[in-house]
Amino acid sequence: MERLWTENLRDIEPYVPGEQSGEQDIIKLNANENPYPPSPKAQEAIRNFDTQALRFYPNANATSLKQAIADYYHVGIKNVFLGNGSDDVIAVAFQALFNSDLPIVFPDLTYSFYPVWCALFNIPYKNYPVGDDFRINAEDYREKNGGVIIPNPNAPTSLGEGRAFVEKLMDYNRDSVVIIDEAYVDFGGESSVELTKKYENLLVTGTFSKSRSLAGLRIGFAIGSEKLISVLEAVKNSYNSYTVDAVSIEAGRASILDDAYFKQTCNKIIRTRERVTAQMRELGFTVLDSQTNFIFATRDGMSMKDMFEYLKTKKIYIRYFSVPRIDNYVRITIGTDREMDVFLENVREYVK
Ligand code: PMP
Repeated sequence: MERLWTENLRDIEPYVPGEQSGEQDIIKLNANENPYPPSPKAQEAIRNFDTQALRFYPNANATSLKQAIADYYHVGIKNVFLGNGSDDVIAVAFQALFNSDLPIVFPDLTYSFYPVWCALFNIPYKNYPVGDDFRINAEDYREKNGGVIIPNPNAPTSLGEGRAFVEKLMDYNRDSVVIIDEAYVDFGGESSVELTKKYENLLVTGTFSKSRSLAGLRIGFAIGSEKLISVLEAVKNSYNSYTVDAVSIEAGRASILDDAYFKQTCNKIIRTRERVTAQMRELGFTVLDSQTNFIFATRDGMSMKDMFEYLKTKKIYIRYFSVPRIDNYVRITIGTDREMDVFLENVREYVK
């Protein structure tokens, strides 16, 4: 007979991240990772790290990294929150800022972690469908709600919205906290960080995982009013004071200070994205106008699931979502030019 204690175990459907393969020679275009190495300055910071210092806890406030981020974005240190990747930052934000009985709201096609956190933290939610063109309609967000979260640019659609969209959203949501998830903004999106000075209820989140090639270190941040940040700090310090480790503090700071390298790699990825988009369109694909480090594509009369599986046999990993409305689309992370040439060659072969 089953013991009664099993009845008390949490039963929850978790988020499924992009597959990590142990295989050596694959072309990995499935998790929106950066194909270029982290800044040489960040690498140097890790090499020079005094491992003796690891016996001490890190600075719980990660002050030196926080100050570097504050300087970079021209905000005060009290306007910056740090976490173990932006997943951690957003999870803290859900717990800290979404405490209404009203549902929080986000688009139907978006980062699939949001509904998982809602389930985990018992937060009611409601989706507004994006348009047939996959654009988010700001007017939907006029309805009273318990909070708003929108990635800008959105994932997996790759589409970004401009400042006017965010201003509208803020205008319609004076009584709710609005979170803009800017995981992909550095690849051509429009950041709302500046607007956090105008709207005390706006929180912008960011990550070092994509544009700074540091997914493995897990550094995420949020920028907002001192009021919002102090609540995030209080919640974080109620479950884990040390979410950013000592090595990440040093390497993250070095990465922020190396702006030339950062701009150079982002621009390289943008150039490759534009070239791949054009070539995919020549092959008959519909490719959305991406402002991210990935593209979202489909092709009339062709199964994207089959193409995804075919490419896997060629050791090229892309992402396919078995989700209504987008179940004939694939999401392809932009790799190096060489990787994308091999990808295009195989797609050309498949289309034939
Ligand atoms: N937001 C969006 C929209 C994402 O796609 C991701 C990456 N899966 C994240 C946040 C979290 O990234 P990280 O935890 O690596 O900062």
